[in-house]
Amino acid sequence: MAASWERTAKPKSPRKTSKSEDKQEASSSNRGLDVEQRVCHSRTYRDQGDIPEAPHDWNSFGIGRVARLFRTNREGAIRLSLRKLHTRWWHASEHTMKRFLERVGVSQRVLDIIPGIVQTCRVCREWAKPGPSNSSNVEIADTFNLQVECDLIFIHKFIIFHMIDRCTRWHAAMVIPNKQEETLMKAIDTLWVATHGPPKELITDGESGIALSNLTK
Ligand SMILES: [Zn+2]
Repeated sequence: MAASWERTAKPKSPRKTSKSEDKQEASSSNRGLDVEQRVCHSRTYRDQGDIPEAPHDWNSFGIGRVARLFRTNREGAIRLSLRKLHTRWWHASEHTMKRFLERVGVSQRVLDIIPGIVQTCRVCREWAKPGPSNSSNVEIADTFNLQVECDLIFIHKFIIFHMIDRCTRWHAAMVIPNKQEETLMKAIDTLWVATHGPPKELITDGESGIALSNLTK
């Protein structure tokens, strides 16, 4: 306490104080206008979770400071700090985060927030393992030329043969003279197979005659 008074009695030095000194000063009061202003700055900055956004300030993000924050009831700041810890620890799992924070004496109240933080992490969700329903689902074309649809469009006296890849939506079309089997086979070859190779699955509406052709099998 005496040391603190001594420091207060000294005239304000123009030297820029470090972040931790700033905080110490912020915690005591009545030091004149200059200090009060800085206290204000310090407060807004602290309410964002005690962890500065600027990368050069990441060094000051000590676990001790975070642990102190966790003993307060500033839930917004606590959540933000947990999220930052999660990111800083290379997207640690709920289990890892809980285990570590438990060891440094973080209360159950804070530990209970962890699952929500980890489960809502955008990065973790994007990289999550696909569930069993996502694997080997034949209905969803995830590759080019896996499922290609073809159909005929009649405009006035013209017949347009149209093909589209279900995955990429890449498509191609050409005018054909008639809808005979041979004409259609030739169109498929010219439009698609010559360029992309035969599609794994050719999907038709069943009317066009392609479905019945032995050549497509
Ligand atoms: Zn994550």
